[in-house]
Amino acid sequence: MTTAARSSATAYFRNVWDNVRSVATGMRITLKYCFQRSVTVSYPEHRLAFAPRYRGVHEFEANKCIACDLCAKACPVDCIYIDKSGPRRIDKATGHVEASDPKNGELLRFAVDYSKCLFCALCTEPCPTACIHMGKLHDLSCYTRDGAVVEFAELDKVGQRTPIPLWMERNKDSIGWVKDEHDRVKAGRLATTAADIPPVK
Ligand code: SF4
Ligand code: SF4
Repeated sequence: MTTAARSSATAYFRNVWDNVRSVATGMRITLKYCFQRSVTVSYPEHRLAFAPRYRGVHEFEANKCIACDLCAKACPVDCIYIDKSGPRRIDKATGHVEASDPKNGELLRFAVDYSKCLFCALCTEPCPTACIHMGKLHDLSCYTRDGAVVEFAELDKVGQRTPIPLWMERNKDSIGWVKDEHDRVKAGRLATTAADIPPVK
């Protein structure tokens, strides 16, 4: 065999070896991930636990809101919209703004635009009546940009503190924990997280 033929045969077998080695390396990595524990879950059939300070869609107690605008002023992206027909005062006996008191104005609008909200919780800090909280629901899907604006004062008229997400409405009849959450929201029961920023004393 000539020297040229020997070097060409060597190059050929080196190429074969390189290819076999790279396929083996690829397969080793693939197999490693095949047997690793999965980090995703099939939601909502399965769910992961939230961190205690998770900040989700707000929960709002309209009957404690005096429409003072402090939360809107604290919001860094101006995504809280408030309108009232007159001053609102907390009744010391009940801890609520009594709608039956003619001296109290009506909360005409309390809305949050979730296409802008940063979930920073800064709105919770200045609230003098502790009526705005960071909740634990995270679903923000909607069909239009306007759908991202949650009208909390309107929700209060049907007894809700937070909106019912689309996935919850669709899965409540087939998944136990979704039904529990749906019933809680529908009944206006709060499920705030530890994310509210306590007021500075
Ligand atoms: S969480 Fe932050 S961005 Fe969202 S409404 Fe409150 S202050 Fe504004
Ligand atoms: S700071 Fe509290 S009481 Fe004042 S407008 Fe906001 S939510 Fe209502």
